[in-house]
Order: sequence, then structure tokens, then C-alpha cells
Amino acid sequence: MNYFASMNIQFMGAAKMVTGSKHLITTPNQTKILLDCGLVQGNHDKNIDYNRNFGFDPASVDYVILSHAHIDHSGLLPRLVKEGFNGIIFCTPGTFDLCKIMLMDSAHIQTADLGYLNKRRAKKKLQNIDPLYDVKDVEKALSLFQQIGYDENTKVNSEFSFQFTDAGHLLGSACVHLKIKTGPRKYKRITFTGDIGKYGDSILRDPQPFAQTDILICESTYGNKLHPLAIDAQAELLKIVEETCVQNKGKLIIPAFSVDRTQEIIYLLDQAHNNGSLPPIKIFVDSPLSVKATGVMRAHEECYRDAFLDYIAKDSDPFGFDNLEYVTDVEASKAINVLKEPCIIISASGMAEAGRVKHHIANNIDNPNTTILLVGYCTPESLGGKLKAGLTSVRIFGEEYQVKAKIKSLDYYSAHADYNEILKFLKCIKAAKVEKLFLVHGEYENQVAFKERLLDAGFKHIYIPDLKEQFDL
Ligand SMILES: [Zn+2]
Repeated sequence: MNYFASMNIQFMGAAKMVTGSKHLITTPNQTKILLDCGLVQGNHDKNIDYNRNFGFDPASVDYVILSHAHIDHSGLLPRLVKEGFNGIIFCTPGTFDLCKIMLMDSAHIQTADLGYLNKRRAKKKLQNIDPLYDVKDVEKALSLFQQIGYDENTKVNSEFSFQFTDAGHLLGSACVHLKIKTGPRKYKRITFTGDIGKYGDSILRDPQPFAQTDILICESTYGNKLHPLAIDAQAELLKIVEETCVQNKGKLIIPAFSVDRTQEIIYLLDQAHNNGSLPPIKIFVDSPLSVKATGVMRAHEECYRDAFLDYIAKDSDPFGFDNLEYVTDVEASKAINVLKEPCIIISASGMAEAGRVKHHIANNIDNPNTTILLVGYCTPESLGGKLKAGLTSVRIFGEEYQVKAKIKSLDYYSAHADYNEILKFLKCIKAAKVEKLFLVHGEYENQVAFKERLLDAGFKHIYIPDLKEQFDL
């Protein structure tokens, strides 16, 4: 081992932006460890290039350590494998189970989006492109996964070991703590936060404290934002259910991300059902991915917070009750459209840009008795974003629709810690002892604001890396 060789890190994604998380560490022994392998999201032509050119040779990477299953952290793994990566992908059991369904879904989206993308490219006289990867690449990638539980110290080889701690952001989400040998009896500790969850989630544990580190790579999505004060989400939701389904006899359509948001809403309704406050109306969870994701959520008690464990000790199925129906079949989904009685439809995608929820919205948006309830972040250009902005007409499947339905939102839900919560999370370590702190996964102006807050908290050497920028460690 050449102890005199230096170690470095290169930021290959989520640098001054929020998606495409990819950070490449080269150890003194030239071992290459890639932290996350995320897809850059959003339909910009420059993003097409980011997702097709890694900027390094995938075959040269020895290990991937994956923080969590969100596509902006895991979505390029099948592409990495397609381009020659053949090492081990480490992640937690919860992340592995979510990746199985989310990467498959991503492969289908890649193929489905291509028609639209190539049409746009043809107009600009650009060449047609192939999908980033297909189902076979996903299967190959999944065969390289190795599951490691939280807090297990994993010695990978004589040069480095690592450990996961719970980040409380998504089922299976983890902070990664590496210990890398840099000389005789000398080590460097590197912590990558991945995405940090909020405190007080209804199902998941709070972000767990971790041991002192030398190098910190920290997310900064909400580096300049505080969440609104917690509202009583169950009371708000029940008020909307009462107005829409009982008083107006209409349909309540809730576009929701398949993983976590959907289960949070089902759990709220399950509690209301148990305490007798839910009116006896039909509820449909209409999305094959949401149905699978709920199955994964049921299987990972190791990620549950104590209060949720107490709840399931009394009600063994927190995601199921009379009147709640999971729908996977297309015909059964279409049958909801002709249903005349009031009901609640929870369906993906969360921004109403794709999936079955788009059909439900198209079928009911011109009915003033309908309510569309937005429960997550929507980009301004998405259908959800346009509805949230109050547009009076929108295009869906190429047709113009008048917005007569009521549009409401429950902003209480966010899977990311705000800046106060990140600072609280980092209190477990001594700021002055951190040699270098890198801010990733944030818009630049938020990162600049967050850097000031971190300086106030006693952190000293704070960097906001550019894409592809490399630093000695
Ligand atoms: Zn995430």
C-alpha cells in the first residue's frame, strides 16, 4: 500500500443542484468508492448529457455505497452496470427492497419517456437516443447488491470499513460512515449524510446521532428554509374528506408519491378509521407501484419509530382497514371512473405528471364537487404545480380542461430536514474537529445561506463544490 499517495474526492453530481447524487472517493491505494449513483432529474437537454456521460470510467469503480433508494440517488446504477461496473453495491435491506421496485419502474419510465424525448430532438434535428437502461440492466444491477444492516461495522478489505446509521428520510435511508486507512495506524473518517429526514415523522425513526468524523459531506436541500409549524394533518385531512365526500358527495383525488407519502396518508386514515372519525366512504389506493411499496413498508419494522411500533402492537395492519382497497388491475382502475358515489382516490405520481392519477384528474377536474389535494412538492411546470398555482385551465393528454374542481394542499409533508433540523442533527459531532465540510444536494443560493449558518455553528472549512471539482482529503 502506498501510504504517501493522497486520497481525493470528486463531486460527479448533486453539486450546486439537488439531483444526480454521485461522489467518487479514490483512496491512497487507488480503490474507487462511489457514494450514490443518482439520476439527474428534469427534462433539460443538458440533463440528458449528465445522465449519459458519467465523467469517469464505470468499470474502474470498485464499490458503490448507496445512501437510499430515491431515484436521484440510485437511478443510474443500472446504467453504471451497463457501462462496465462489476463490483459490490452496499445498501441497507430496506433500500434493497425499495430499489427492486423503484429501479424496475424507472426502467419502464426511461422507455416510455423516449418517444416524447425523441420527437423533441427530431424538431431540433438531433439524433434519436436509446433508453438509459432496460429491465435486463436493472436485473444485473440488483444481482450486485449486498445488504448491510444499520450500525453493523463492515470491514470491506484491509484498507477500509464502513457503517450505516439511520437517516430517517425514507425507509432504509442511511448516513454512510467510512474509515479509510491512510498510513500505519492512521485513518481518515468520512461521513456522507445522504438525505437527512425530518424529526417527528409519523412512521420512520428520527435521524440517528453518529460518531465524530474528519470529513463531512452534507446535504443542503433546505439550507435556507424552515418548515411551517406542524399542523394537525389528520384533522386537516378529515375536514377536507368531510367537505368533499360527505357534504358535496364528490371525489377526493390525492396525487401522492408511491413510496412513503402514500403510506403516511393511509396511516392517517387508518388511525381515523380506528377512532371512528372516518366517514364510511370507499378509499382506493390506485397505483401498482404504491401497492408494492406498501408491501415493502410492511416488511421493515427495523425502520419504525417507537410510537408506530406501539400502534402496530394494537392494530397489526396500519395500512389496511374496511373500505380501503388496493388496486393494481387496469380494469379495476377504470371502474373507479364510472363509480358515481363519493370516494377517496390516492394515486401516483405525486406531481400528477404521469401515472393513473392523471386519468382520474382528467375525468373529474371539470366537476366543482371534486377536490384535488396536493400533498407534496410539485415543480412549477408539472400538472400538480400548475394546479397549485391556481391556473383556471390546464392541458392533460393534449386536451384543454377547465379547472372547476377545488384545489387544496397539505404542505405539512416533507421528507427533508430544514436548516434548523440539520444543525440539530450535526450537534452530535464537534464542529471544530471537522477538517473539511462539503455541501452537496442543494441549489447554490441555499448553500451559500446554509454555509453562513454552519460557520455560526462553529464549522470552519466549508466548501461548495462545482460539478466535477476534485479535492484532496
Ligand atoms: Zn431522498
